[in-house]
Amino acid sequence: MIVAMQDSASEEQIQNVVEHLIRMGFSVHRTTGERQTVLAAVGARIDFDTRNLEVLSGVEHVHRISAPYKLAGRSFRPDGTVIEFANGLKIGGEEVVVMAGPCSVESREQLFNVSEQIAKAGARVLRGGAFKPRSSPYSFQGMGLEGLKLLREAGEKFNMLVISEVMEISQIEMMLPYVDLFQVGARNMQNFNLLRELGKVKKPVLLKRGIAATLEELLLSAEYIMAGGNYQVILCERGIRTFETYTRNTLDISAIPIIHKLSHLPMTSDPSHGTGLRDKVPPMARASVAAGADALLIEVHHDPDKALSDGAQSLYPQQFAQLMHELRMIAPAVGRKIA
Ligand code: PEP
Ligand code: MN
Repeated sequence: MIVAMQDSASEEQIQNVVEHLIRMGFSVHRTTGERQTVLAAVGARIDFDTRNLEVLSGVEHVHRISAPYKLAGRSFRPDGTVIEFANGLKIGGEEVVVMAGPCSVESREQLFNVSEQIAKAGARVLRGGAFKPRSSPYSFQGMGLEGLKLLREAGEKFNMLVISEVMEISQIEMMLPYVDLFQVGARNMQNFNLLRELGKVKKPVLLKRGIAATLEELLLSAEYIMAGGNYQVILCERGIRTFETYTRNTLDISAIPIIHKLSHLPMTSDPSHGTGLRDKVPPMARASVAAGADALLIEVHHDPDKALSDGAQSLYPQQFAQLMHELRMIAPAVGRKIA
């Protein structure tokens, strides 16, 4: 960390800051310039708050150099993390993995209909919410355990892995036999108790960015899971809230190369929640692959007009098949393949 003192800072103020830094556990290297004094603080500590220094008298500016996370940071695994499943599928490697399925599991007929068509088009992971975090308590809340059982059955029948959202700690145990990946939704990105529990689980966790979360906050949430011992974390950009109202959220595609620079964890893009509009999903999915996404999460429904949740952003199966065809052309242009 660098602490730049004001030109007018007195020797007493400088000494006060030096003592403060030493009390925080840093060793301090002082550079006394003609006008300004700059203090470089080095040490192993990463959980400090720069504001505690900014408010000291005589301080002009504090600049943090090291990241506030260590396990999620790129330097922890410079070659990147590749998550491998029992069936050989890898996320984070050369191949881009497409996860697809309905927003919610609604019925056997719905799930099997969609599953058959997306599997045929090339989806490798079946998505579907059994527990739904709905903005309104009066909206459909999901089928629960019954939905999980249907997901597992459809996944096995059509040869896809299964991902579903976990909303609270009490659901983890119940979900374990049915899912290959746990999804943590945007609303739960900072549910630190849930993240800590998922740190003890031996299955990968797909962690979505919160609707108003910075990328640093996303990485700190990943750090919670990793600090518990579970290093199998996959991050996901699913759109953030901005002043734009045309789309449901604003899909921050720049998050993909930024996360790749800051972290070794695989990065997913969810253009369905990222835009909220069916016709905007394929272009943003294509852009995500071009930007380097390691996986995509896409909502598909056989009859979206009748969907119990997120019908407006769900692709028709034939649109999904067309998108897969396009992605297979785009991926090689950026040195990838579709899994
Ligand atoms: C979902 O994937 O259906 C979902 C609820 O996503 P998010 O948490 O991104 O809103
Ligand atoms: Mn949804």
